[in-house]
Order: sequence, then structure tokens, then C-alpha cells
Amino acid sequence: MADAVNRQVLLASRPDGAPTLESFRIHDAPMPEAGAGELLVRSLYLSLDPYMRGRMSDRASYADPVPIDGVMGGGSVGQVIAGSAPDIAIGDYVLGHGGWQEFFTAKPSHLRRLDPDMAPLSTALGVLGMPGMTAYCGLLQIGKPKAGDTLVVAAASGPVGGTVGQIGQIMDCRVVGLAGSDEKCAYVTSELGFDECLNHRRPDLKSALAAACPAGIDVYFENVGGHVWDAVYPLLNAFARVPVCGVISRYNANEAPPGPDRMPGLMTDVLIKRLAIRGFIVTDFQGLEGEFLRGMGAWVRDGRVRYREDIVDGIEQIPARMIGLLGGENFGKLLVRTSPDPTR
Ligand code: NDP
Repeated sequence: MADAVNRQVLLASRPDGAPTLESFRIHDAPMPEAGAGELLVRSLYLSLDPYMRGRMSDRASYADPVPIDGVMGGGSVGQVIAGSAPDIAIGDYVLGHGGWQEFFTAKPSHLRRLDPDMAPLSTALGVLGMPGMTAYCGLLQIGKPKAGDTLVVAAASGPVGGTVGQIGQIMDCRVVGLAGSDEKCAYVTSELGFDECLNHRRPDLKSALAAACPAGIDVYFENVGGHVWDAVYPLLNAFARVPVCGVISRYNANEAPPGPDRMPGLMTDVLIKRLAIRGFIVTDFQGLEGEFLRGMGAWVRDGRVRYREDIVDGIEQIPARMIGLLGGENFGKLLVRTSPDPTR
């Protein structure tokens, strides 16, 4: 171990618009050592998530930016290889916030022990982790779906959208997804069981969505914004609920989109239709983590909620795959495996 290095992905510069390969730098750092009361963890899976684009910019947001030459932050799953703690032993598998690096140290209170016999370790970064909890809390707490409602879900093949739609089915909603390719749409209907899924790139999106939602839309789970929101918005029913989870179409944007100012019309509709449009960050619902893990764990075990992973090997893959994620190249929860998973 003395000569071992810790490969990291650093933020090399702040992107102007979409990130490029030059926005990142691979760096061989010395191996970290666990300090007093800390554990040393070897990463197995690193999570790549759309929110990370926000951390690359220094505009005002709900979290601080990553400093230039800092390790990009993010969730990771790994195995404890050194240190000692009362409830976590060497060899245990843990969920932590190690960021984009092959090894990290953490206090035990910042780690959650994982039982590989309960679910594959990687799911702690997907359906049984932050994206799954985002879907669970955003839909149930803000969307408040009722039996018979029409629920429309954007980015429907991804870890958040795919989970939202399946919870909607459990709640007896009519569920219509929107995704960026015919292949993704086929997966969303055949594997995830949505009633319909429309390719958001089709030129007749507005009329096709109206046909798929003959009773209008009661809940719209917003993940993308842009032209998808434009198609959804006129179909919202009175008292519709819109959990605003993400607006990925805007993450690389520096300026407002061209066209007339539509804000006055939107505010009038919010009033006339009594729309409830509410943004949220998953951490707003931290108190529901136990309920989420129990409920979603049971749904995943009994097959009522299914998931798909897009796993690539090697930390050097991160820059290109992160850029691709923002353009829809991923198909399922995007993970980078940095070391073989001994449990698979
Ligand atoms: P996904 O794995 O679904 O990846 C994002 C997807 O967005 C892409 O695959 C692509 O799918 C779609 N997309 C990208 N650009 C556009 C565009 N211009 N127009 C329409 N669709 C586009 O991501 P997640 O499931 O992890 O996240 C989904 C959303 O939820 C994101 O906006 C994310 O930021 C947000 N989020 C918010 C959280 C919160 O606390 N509020 C927490 C976690 C996620 P396709 O090919 O189908 O177009």
C-alpha cells in the first residue's frame, strides 16, 4: 500500500456552457490515511448525477461550488480497508460521500453500513439511494398522487423518473413517461410498466401528449424543463401538482431562452387553475429516510419497483460520461466502477 496512489477526478476549470474534457483533470494523489476516529474506504462504485453540473459553477445555489483543483464530490459505495469504529468493521461495505476518487477517509457517522444480502451494493446509489428517495419524497409529499390521476413523468428511463412512474402505478395512476429515444420508451413501457411513453424528440410532441392524456394531467414530475415543460403545461388540470425536481435542459445554459416573456401567462394560469408548482431538494425530506428505505426496499424486493444501471469501468471514464449524462447518453443509473465488486 505504501506506493499506492489514489486516482482522483478534479475540477480543472469552470465550464462556460457545457463541460468539456478540459473541465476535468485526472490526478494521482498519495493514498489517504485514516486519522483518529476515521475509516479508510476503497471505492467500488462512484455516482454520476446531473446535480453535479451545478457544483461546477460558482453561481448562487443551494450548495457550495467545488473549488478549482478540488475533487468532485458525490456519493460512493466502498469497502472499509483500515481504521476502527464501534459499528463498522474492516471489510464492511458502506455508503459515503467520497467523491470522484478511488479511496477516501470518513468519520463513521458519515457512512451507512450496507448489507449486500439485502440488495446489490450499487443500488445504494440508485433506487435505494439518493435518486430513489428523490422520487419517493417528491412524488408522495408534493405530487400527492391519487388513484385515477394522470401522472406524467419526464426523464422516465432514469433512476428518478423510472422510480416515480412505478410508484405512480402502485398508487393506481395512469402513468405517461417522456424519454429521449424510442429504445428508452420501449424499456419504460415494457420493463417498467408505464401506460405510455413518448419520445420527447418527436416533432408532434404536443398533440401526441394531449392524445396520451385525454383527461388532462393531474401530476407532472418535472425533471427537465424546456420543450418538455412547454408540451406539458397547457394540459395541466385545475389543482394539478408539479414537483419541480430538476430542469436539466437548463443546467448548461448561460442565458434565458429566446422568445417572448411567458411569465405573466404562467402566473395567470397558476391562479386560474390553482396550480401547485413546488421545487424541492431531496435533503428537505431527510426525516423520511427510514420510511423510504423500508418502503422502497420492500417494493424492490417484491419486484414492484424495477431499476436499470448503466455501469462503466475505470475512473478515467468519468469526464466523458459526465458530459454524456447531461445530453441523455446514459440509459439507467450512471455508475463508475473503480474496483471489482466482491459481492457480484
Ligand atoms: P437521468 O439518469 O434520468 O439523466 C438525466 C436525463 O435527462 C438524461 O438521460 C436525458 O434523458 C434527460 N435530458 C437531458 N437533457 C435533456 C433535455 N434538454 N430535455 C429533456 N430531457 C433531457 O438523471 P436522474 O434520474 O439522476 O435525475 C433526473 C432529474 O432529477 C435531473 O434533473 C436531476 O438534476 C434531478 N434531481 C433532483 C434532485 C433533487 O433533490 N431535487 C435529486 C436527484 C436528481 P432522455 O434521453 O430521456 O432525454
